[in-house]
Amino acid sequence: MSELAVVFGGSRGIGRAVSQLLAARGHRVAVVSRHLEAAQAAVATLAGGEHVALGCDVSREQEVQEAFQSIQKTCGNLRYLVNAAGVNRDGLLLRAAQGDMVSVLHTNLLGTMLTCRAALRSMLHKQGGAIVNIGSVVGQKGHAGQCVYSASKAGLEGFTRSLAREVASRRIRVNLLAPGYIRTDMTAGLKEAELVRGVPLGRFGEPEEVAQAVLFLLETPYVTGQVLLVDGGLQLAM
Ligand code: NDP
Repeated sequence: MSELAVVFGGSRGIGRAVSQLLAARGHRVAVVSRHLEAAQAAVATLAGGEHVALGCDVSREQEVQEAFQSIQKTCGNLRYLVNAAGVNRDGLLLRAAQGDMVSVLHTNLLGTMLTCRAALRSMLHKQGGAIVNIGSVVGQKGHAGQCVYSASKAGLEGFTRSLAREVASRRIRVNLLAPGYIRTDMTAGLKEAELVRGVPLGRFGEPEEVAQAVLFLLETPYVTGQVLLVDGGLQLAM
């Protein structure tokens, strides 16, 4: 059975573009999101055959374990893991509800820890693999109105570097990709015309442009523990 790439958050946006690129390059892809029908719809658009769709909430340990059990039983060896599932609940900290804080931290940070732990069990067994976690430029720079979201993304940086050190000897690489403004559902409500003035390249990025960089991190054998910004130069101007 051919090796597999698992993409959490693969039903929309960046994760979907990653799934499409991986499939176009001949990889088998497992697309995962909370809603099975959304994952199935995304799979239906992928090139080639043998892709699978799974419904799983990354913030729930049991669901993550069951997803990987099902993947191992039916899909064969896991080679790549991409963690693109994420949510934001933007607003000033003074007005933030604890439930929203928990939701953001559990999806973006805990969820990535859970999927990485589950994936490692399979990757360690076959000695090799690559993981790309999706952070954000605000994890490095901070952003008013995004205290909790940027904390979740900053947490991913420490997590990614530490995990890279833990598993390097087993030929497993772990990197973080930090996007700036990318045109997806998550940014649909933003004032693009105003915000692009702060982006040196003068525009929002496309999910496909992030996917290219994810593929680079997955396939480049001598890169681990790194943070790659894909932000049109936004960080330079922040
Ligand atoms: P979208 O909102 O377009 O897509 C989010 C994806 O995550 C969907 O597939 C969604 O599927 C899935 N998802 C959300 N919550 C969960 C969950 N609990 N369990 C499983 N899947 C879940 O977002 P983007 O593509 O824009 O974002 C992808 C990643 O990139 C996120 O981590 C985001 O924080 C990050 N990012 C995005 C930026 C941007 O400008 N767009 C900038 C910087 C970082 P479903 O709803 O079916 O569960």
